[in-house]
This record gives sequence, C-alpha cells and structure tokens, in this order.
Amino acid sequence: MSLEERIQHVDERIQAACEASGRNRESVNVIAVTKYVSAEMTEKVLGSGLVHIGENRWQNAEEKWNTLGHRGIWHFIGHLQTNKVKDVIGKFPYIHSLDRLSLAREIEKKAAQLDIKVQCMLQVNISGEESKYGLQPEQAVPLLREIREFNHIQVAGLMTMAPFEEESERTRPVFRGLRELRDDLNRQALTHEPLTDLSMGMSNDFEIAIQEGATWVRLGSVLVGKEEG
Ligand SMILES: *Cc1c(COP(=O)(O)O)cnc(C)c1O
Repeated sequence: MSLEERIQHVDERIQAACEASGRNRESVNVIAVTKYVSAEMTEKVLGSGLVHIGENRWQNAEEKWNTLGHRGIWHFIGHLQTNKVKDVIGKFPYIHSLDRLSLAREIEKKAAQLDIKVQCMLQVNISGEESKYGLQPEQAVPLLREIREFNHIQVAGLMTMAPFEEESERTRPVFRGLRELRDDLNRQALTHEPLTDLSMGMSNDFEIAIQEGATWVRLGSVLVGKEEG
C-alpha cells in the first residue's frame, strides 16, 4: 500500500471507531510515528498533510529534526533520559513520557531558560507489566502535587502503552483504566487546568483506545510503514 492509501485506510478505521462510540472525529488526533523510517519518508509524511510527528529516541530523531523540525509539531513519545532533556526541550513541544520528579525538574529548568511552556503527559503503567516504563497509578497524585508548582510544564493529560495482544479487545481494560484515572485525578482537582488528553493506542489497538477515549493515537507501522534496516 502507498502512504496515501495507508492514510486513507487508517482514517476510515478511525471514523468507524468514532462512530461506534459516539465520538467526534475531530476529538482524535493522529501522531505519525516515524521512528522506523528515514528522513525522506518523514518528509513525505509531512507532505501528505499529517502535522504531528512522533519519535521515541533523540539519537534517531536528530537528523530528521534538523532538516524537518520547522515543518511539523514534534512529540517525544519514548523513555526520556535526564541527560537528553537539553536536546529535546525547545524542539519537541509535547513530551508523552513524563514519569518521574527528577525528569520534571530537568524539563522545568530547561523550559524556564528558554522561556517556553512544555505540554506533558504523565506516562502511567496501567497494565502492571514490569517491562513497561511509567508511574504506578498511585504515584500520579504525589507527582502532580509537585509539578503543579512548575510554571513551565503544563500537564495536558496521561499516556499509557498496552501490552501487545493478538486479540486487541484484550487491551480495553488498560485504556479504560487510564481514562478512569484521568477522571479521578480531575475530581481531585490537582492541576490548575483539568487533564484533558489521553495518549493511547498504537497500530495494533488504536480502535479500542479510541472507543475508550483516546485523544492522541500514536501510529507507526500501520500508517507510516516500516523500512528495513
Ligand atoms: C513505536 C511506538 C509507537 C508506534 O508503534 P506502532 O505499533 O508501529 O504503531 C507508539 N508509541 C510508542 C511509545 C512507541 O514507542
């Protein structure tokens, strides 16, 4: 399938998932995850009209960002090492993987120097899989209380990754759990503004995530494809 065909096909699936759950198509934003593809392919993705680009490692993103950074809106979706904050902040207006206070402090420091505000998602490990990064759900409240004092971090919402399942329906409890956690945190009014965003759903499970309230789906292989090597 060509890129155009994949974009069309994914869009139809998003529409259907929205219809099935009574949601507005406009409430679901697509992040094209370009970590498997070259700068040339990333340029085609931007040329196709997709604006949100997701990368999970600065080492892989650097070359692409240096040529294309001014064109898209860049989302950092992978585990962020504290010593990479200086490279990423100022280039990626969205960080989906805020999972510890030490990282929040570094982001705040760098963003304050640049006089910018960074949109962050708290990454939460809902599934409890040991291999996954992210906070335990019960750590969200104390972390939000600390981050509330940081003027250069806006916590927009929450992010999670579901385990890979052959039967995607089995991911539903993870996505539902993230939505319920967001709603619960909002009832406690821990942030200046309510948490609105839910970053959840990948190639294998995005329709389930949309039915459970995803506002950002992060799509690599199904949308952008995968280049060998
Ligand atoms: C790679 C990656 C994705 C996209 O993966 P696909 O299954 O190819 O859609 C989404 N989110 C994160 C955090 C990733 O690392």
